[in-house]
Amino acid sequence: QLSIHAREIVMMYADIHCWMLRIFSWETQKNFGFLRGRQADLLEERKFFMAEPLFLKAQMHDKIWGGTKLRDEFGYDIPTETTGEYWAISAHPNGVSIVDNGTYKGEGLDKLYREHKELFGSPKSEVFPLLTKILDANDWLSVQVHPDDAYALEHEGELGKTECWYVIAADEDSEIIYGHNAKSKEELAEMIEAGKWDDLLTKVPVKAGDFFYVPSGTMHAIGKGILILETQQSSDTTYRVYDFDRRDAAGNLRDLHIKQSIDVLTIGEPANSTPVTVDVDNLSSSLLVSNEFFAVYKWVVSGAVNFTQTAPYLLVSVLSGQGSLTVDNRVYNLKKGDHFILPNDVKSWQLNGDLEIIASHPNEK
Ligand code: ZN
Repeated sequence: QLSIHAREIVMMYADIHCWMLRIFSWETQKNFGFLRGRQADLLEERKFFMAEPLFLKAQMHDKIWGGTKLRDEFGYDIPTETTGEYWAISAHPNGVSIVDNGTYKGEGLDKLYREHKELFGSPKSEVFPLLTKILDANDWLSVQVHPDDAYALEHEGELGKTECWYVIAADEDSEIIYGHNAKSKEELAEMIEAGKWDDLLTKVPVKAGDFFYVPSGTMHAIGKGILILETQQSSDTTYRVYDFDRRDAAGNLRDLHIKQSIDVLTIGEPANSTPVTVDVDNLSSSLLVSNEFFAVYKWVVSGAVNFTQTAPYLLVSVLSGQGSLTVDNRVYNLKKGDHFILPNDVKSWQLNGDLEIIASHPNEK
């Protein structure tokens, strides 16, 4: 056992070494065996490791409505020719992202969040609260609705789902379903049961760059020919209202959830958000939405931009362009399709190049 005094001296000694060793990469240090035993433990305790971004490797999901744009547009190695979803930043059990660089390389984001809460600002939330996906809608997704937290926790044992969409690309004349025309729950139930879809569902034309806020309870469907980045609560509960009477490859209809849908659908127009844009030097920053669950930003970077961390941590997705990220004097190349987290110990960073980015952070209750 070290006395407190002796421990402090070792800490100082460790600090000096820490600075000396910064010129070596961590790999080199390991290979040379510079750090051993107690000293290494102390260094680790003091977060000797340089602050690092967490680049992530994603899980992909085959979908009846999926296509090949995740490969064609982003170069991802898709598993099937009908790949619909790329779970870019996720700790949800149905598709956990894996850290692809640095100290935590190979670890799942779920485990990292459980065991290293300090990387996320020591939040109260027991589960990583957000999920970032890219969706390739080669055909219409089902018309659907998601429950709020209270309903989802009671009936599904997980969070509800409020989501939002940034349209990356859209074929000409693309549309989404966003809201419905029923004036009461009774009318809603009647129209659903009678299958009056044309009268009930509200279609809205979309183009690249559009943004839609989709709170839980909103009737919605992403239309054919649309590629979107979705920021959402970490949840996989969907109540399907209508699936265009489609059959899958095996000839089966997908399940509908009419009762649950009528329970959770809200009456009235969807509450879309109004983005607010600020231009400073080489950055155009738009706050797309901020609610009780998350805030989402679009950044257009042209040149060098310095940032300081004001959120507990940030989720970052590069949608186009190329450039670099500098953290703690280390430079990371960035390209379209990269996704990473800037954890709590990254207090400042620089982006450089021509980049279009969607960034988000949780808003803890
Ligand atoms: Zn949805």
